[in-house]
Amino acid sequence: MTAYETTEPVLYERVDGVAVLTLNRPLFHNAQNLQLLYALDDAWRRASTDPDVGCILLAASGRNFSAGHDIGSPGRDVEYPIPEPRALWGDHTGAQGPERAYLREQEAYLGLCRRWRASATPAVAAVQGACIAGGLMLAWVCDIIVAAEDASFSDPVLKMGVPGVEYFAHAFEMHPRVAREFLLLGDRMPARRAYELGMVNRVVVRETLMTEALAIAERIAALPRFGVTLAKQAFNFQEDAAGKRATMDAVFHMHHLAHAQNLHGTGDTIAGMTPRDIAEKS
Ligand code: ZN
Repeated sequence: MTAYETTEPVLYERVDGVAVLTLNRPLFHNAQNLQLLYALDDAWRRASTDPDVGCILLAASGRNFSAGHDIGSPGRDVEYPIPEPRALWGDHTGAQGPERAYLREQEAYLGLCRRWRASATPAVAAVQGACIAGGLMLAWVCDIIVAAEDASFSDPVLKMGVPGVEYFAHAFEMHPRVAREFLLLGDRMPARRAYELGMVNRVVVRETLMTEALAIAERIAALPRFGVTLAKQAFNFQEDAAGKRATMDAVFHMHHLAHAQNLHGTGDTIAGMTPRDIAEKS
C-alpha cells in the first residue's frame, strides 16, 4: 500500500525574479516518487511560464538533497499510473515485462529531466548532504550547481547491476576517466573534489548555501531574459553536438537491458535492492 506522507512534495516560492522550488520529502531524504516528480514538473512549468521569473533555484529541505528514485519509502508509487503523462508513451501499468519499466522511465525519469534541461529558464541547484543516483539527475539538469561543504555525489546503481542512472551524463559532467571511477566504484564524491573537477560551481558552508545560491540566481534573473535563454540553449546545443543526447539514448537502452536481466533473474527490475542495501554497499 502506498501512503504519501505529504500533500506538498515540492514547495514553490517567489523571491523577486527567482522561483524557489524545494524538494519536500525530508523524512525520506527527498526520494523521488511520481508524486514528487510530477509536482516538480508542475512547479517547473509554473516558473518557466511566469514572465516575472528569470531563474529557478532548485533546493531541498532536510539534511540531504535527494536519495534518488524512491525504491523503498511508504510513498513509493511505482505501480501507480503516471498522473498526467507529459510525453505520449502510454500507461506503463498496462504493460508487462521489460516494457513496463521502459515506458515508465522514458516518461518519468529520462523524459522529465530532458524537459527541465530544455526549459527556457535557467536553473541553479543548491545541494546539501547526499545527492545519490536519481538525485544527480536533478542537479545535472541545472545550469549551475552550488554545493554545501557537506554535499557528496554518487551513483551506486551498478550495485544492482544497472550501468548508471537513466540520465547518463556522467562523462559530460566529469572527465571520462573520473566518470569511470565514479560509476565503477560508486563511492561518494565529496563536494570539494566535485568542485576541483568542475562538476560543481561553488562550495560554500552549509549555513550560507541558500543565500549564496539565491544571490547567483538573482544575478541571472536580472539579465536580459531572451539573451539568457539563448545562452542556455547554446550550451545545450554544444553538448548535444558533442554527443550528450545520443549517448543518453544509447545508454538508456543498456539501462533497460539491465533492468530486463534483473527481472529475468530475480523477478524485480532492481534485483530486490532496498535503500538500506544501497547505503550499506556504497
Ligand atoms: Zn531505471
